[in-house]
Amino acid sequence: MSVPKGRRAVLTGMLALISAAPLAGGGPFPQDTRGLWPGAATVVRGERSLVIGHGVPYGSLRDLASRADRARRSVEEIWGPVRAVILFPATDAEAAALAGAGGTGGLAALATSDRVIVLPSGYARLSEVGRDVVITHELTHVATGATRGGRVPMWMSEGFADYVGYRDAGIAVRTVAAELAPEVRDGILPSRLPGPGDFAPGAPRLAQAYEEAWLACRLIAERYGEKALVRLYGSDVGSTLGLSETSLVGAWRDYLRRELG
Ligand SMILES: [Zn+2]
Repeated sequence: MSVPKGRRAVLTGMLALISAAPLAGGGPFPQDTRGLWPGAATVVRGERSLVIGHGVPYGSLRDLASRADRARRSVEEIWGPVRAVILFPATDAEAAALAGAGGTGGLAALATSDRVIVLPSGYARLSEVGRDVVITHELTHVATGATRGGRVPMWMSEGFADYVGYRDAGIAVRTVAAELAPEVRDGILPSRLPGPGDFAPGAPRLAQAYEEAWLACRLIAERYGEKALVRLYGSDVGSTLGLSETSLVGAWRDYLRRELG
């Protein structure tokens, strides 16, 4: 399955979200996309998303709009309404310029506070399921406001986006956590939840950091319910789950052993 590798490269791009502002999900579409690619843009409207392409075949935009509709329903089921503009530029360079990002090598998509930007070459390398996971992950970031300027821990922001992304994907835990599983089998367990440094571009255990974050959120959803996981977003472990972060880390290490050991 090519999903995990391809997707993992994508996720490093989400670091662009660190300063993303919270966004009300049900509002009107942002208006400042009108000036994009004047005379050369193709617009496809999904249920609550707008796909705008530049030099991209209509069928690919239609396909993306369908994925955005499915992703939107997944996000809405767990979190709440989300509207997003999804931009599908002609080249990676165009995408990087739109995102205001320096380097986007190896990524397939990234999100800003109100839009998802597809990186054509990375997106093309993803499997069908991988594309759905990526679009759902990015739309989740748009809906939640990602880290809300650093106020939400990255393990929560990335773990929650992956939780929603993988929830209905039908991919085995060991497949999603392909990099973390061998470590756990060797008896190497993380001693703390992953922090910003673990999610930095080029971090040596970047893939594992995403997998650890995902499994922390999955554990919370299984044990306390999805509603508790949602409440925890922007809150703290103690008041939401009634246990200390140390206890959560202990439970999470047991969970890793059970799921991957
Ligand atoms: Zn992300």
